[in-house]
Amino acid sequence: MREKINKYDIALILTIIAVNILILAYGTLNTVDKGKKIAYIYSDNRLVGEYTLTDDYKTEFVVESESGGSNKIHIEDGYVWIEEATCPDKICLHQGKISNDGEVIVCLPNRLMVQIKDNNPEDELDVIVK
Ligand SMILES: [Zn+2]
Repeated sequence: MREKINKYDIALILTIIAVNILILAYGTLNTVDKGKKIAYIYSDNRLVGEYTLTDDYKTEFVVESESGGSNKIHIEDGYVWIEEATCPDKICLHQGKISNDGEVIVCLPNRLMVQIKDNNPEDELDVIVK
């Protein structure tokens, strides 16, 4: 009788350990995927750049539109923002820093758009299907 209880106890403990390992492994994978954010730069409705946002990545570049306007884009610490712009309204400058999935900065006069998307497995599946 006592032996049976012990066997059940061991089985229960092993199950709990197995479930914990699974949850840990899944959580780690999930964090890695969610941490990968990509900034897509569109000019005149064309994709002109793709930048993976990480904490230690820093860059700055100028995007010129067909209309002659330009925007200086700055990427640092996982954030993207417009640093300088030739547009008259400067709305893009006031949109500030973006860093989350789905956030956008738009400069209508220069036809520029910056969009952030999470690089998650569902997106990769979409690409394969296409
Ligand atoms: Zn602007």
